Amino acid sequence: TADLLEIEGLSTYFDTEEGTVRAVDGVSLRVRPGETVCIVGESGCGKSITAMSIMGLVGTNGTAGRIAGGRIRYEDRDLLRLNKHELRTIRGHEIAMIFQEPMSSLNPVLPIGEQIMEPLIEHLKLSKKAARARAIELIAQVGIARPEQIAKAYPHELSGGMLQRIMIAIAISCGPKLLIADEPTTALDVTIQAQILDMLRQFKAESDMSILLITHDLGVVAEMADYVVVMYAGKVVEEGEVVELFERPKHPYTQGLLKSKPIMGQRQDELYSIPGQVPNPLELKPSCYFYERCEHAMDVCRRAEPTLKGVGEQGSVACWLYEEEAIVHG
Ligand code: SF4
Ligand code: MG
Repeated sequence: TADLLEIEGLSTYFDTEEGTVRAVDGVSLRVRPGETVCIVGESGCGKSITAMSIMGLVGTNGTAGRIAGGRIRYEDRDLLRLNKHELRTIRGHEIAMIFQEPMSSLNPVLPIGEQIMEPLIEHLKLSKKAARARAIELIAQVGIARPEQIAKAYPHELSGGMLQRIMIAIAISCGPKLLIADEPTTALDVTIQAQILDMLRQFKAESDMSILLITHDLGVVAEMADYVVVMYAGKVVEEGEVVELFERPKHPYTQGLLKSKPIMGQRQDELYSIPGQVPNPLELKPSCYFYERCEHAMDVCRRAEPTLKGVGEQGSVACWLYEEEAIVHG
């Protein structure tokens, strides 16, 4: 089947006084219809910036950063070439997004119901009356009791878990083909997290929507992903089908992540216990960026950057250990 979303060589840079930060540097990934792809990595690895780039939220309306290269194809359109109006038509309708902090996306002075009605009126052209009825249905659908009453409530009157449910109601309201979820359950406690993930899985099963899920939590990956993309310092270092990746991780970084495997259901803010730190993005040299933290590092790893190469049936890895040439001559 054709890919729903195909990102090719995406680079998103931030120009600072100290130099250019290559937050996302040549990232490629694809999402097929009905598939859940997880992007996993430590905070600062570029996963959120990748999502923002897809949504056209980089370098527009005064936001920092710029797309320095690449293509983001959604169905037959290049999202990077759409004008504001075309992008607005797609965003929130065909591609919806939910964030870690629902409060940041909700209007504090507008009742919940009205906020759910907005996209229904804008994208689906429902009448106010029809939109109101649909909003109440949606509130019930995300598992909130007394939906009529909740529709009249303001965001500050609801708990974090309820607000995230409302965000999901807004996200699915127009029947998106792609849902981008950036750490959607990170701020929630374990029980609520499990309920929210269950709900996303259920909506996905019912509608065949695809999900691009961004998380630092391997427990979430294990529960949700069909395909996993591991990012490190702005690059994809490994990708593969979820079972293969968990059973036979290839990149030393992925292996490290899995060694510090989370206890299922236990909430984690800082997951990884791999020693060392992500390199300073301003001081990246042509090398493997994981060099200083890698117990398998060789000479070549410091001198040259490994590129992503296919391994196994459908996975890829960027590591000199998997390049026979390099091992022989390195
Ligand atoms: Fe380790 Fe070298 Fe592979 Fe980088 S390229 S992960 S330093 S073995
Ligand atoms: Mg983030």
